Amino acid sequence: STFQELGLNEDLLKGIEDLGFETPSEVQAKAIPILLNEDTDLVALAQTGTGKTAAFGFPMLQKIDVNSRTTQGLILSPTRELCLQIANEMKAYGKYCKGLNVVAIYGGSSITDQAREVKRGAQIIVATPGRMKDMINRRLVDITKIQYSVLDEADEMLNMGFKEDITEILSGTPEDKNTWLFSATMPREVSTIAKKFMVNPQEITV
Ligand code: AMP
Repeated sequence: STFQELGLNEDLLKGIEDLGFETPSEVQAKAIPILLNEDTDLVALAQTGTGKTAAFGFPMLQKIDVNSRTTQGLILSPTRELCLQIANEMKAYGKYCKGLNVVAIYGGSSITDQAREVKRGAQIIVATPGRMKDMINRRLVDITKIQYSVLDEADEMLNMGFKEDITEILSGTPEDKNTWLFSATMPREVSTIAKKFMVNPQEITV
């Protein structure tokens, strides 16, 4: 298949062309049509390097409203490095999405600077759970309008002890949002989180 056939819009197709992506990877071919066309939760078993960032990133970029400045998409990721990597990829994918603001939030860096960036209007936040929880508690981010949440490398996040933080964060988001969980493995801890926060998730494996 082609990215066009998956239903992606012109702005994204231009960004994809600039990046030199020619063909959708397997996880992209499976996830993108589902996430674009259905209001559904999703559990995807996929390793790093399979193109999973774009599998959730393209649909999120297409579905958010860039004319609004409220935070509509939240991507939780285990480490600062991954956060920055995902945020940079999202910015590259959305290069032609006019008005798009993607902000990375992670520990070990100025919370004031990150809060200032969020305040300018971030439709998408890519965050590590600890710093995200901190910013929510300090009322520096508003998660009450989140429509799409991604748990990336869910197994790693739980291994790192972020279960409480994730639970607290997701509990503050709207119940009718969609949650897309990506994980390389599916231990009991991950299915417990999935059961707690997801409704009839579709499942894909690559
Ligand atoms: P990820 O699994 O999301 O970390 O992606 C692994 C790498 O593959 C990243 O450097 C992406 O930029 C790249 N990538 C993702 N999708 C494609 C694609 N369809 N064609 C070529 N490269 C891709």
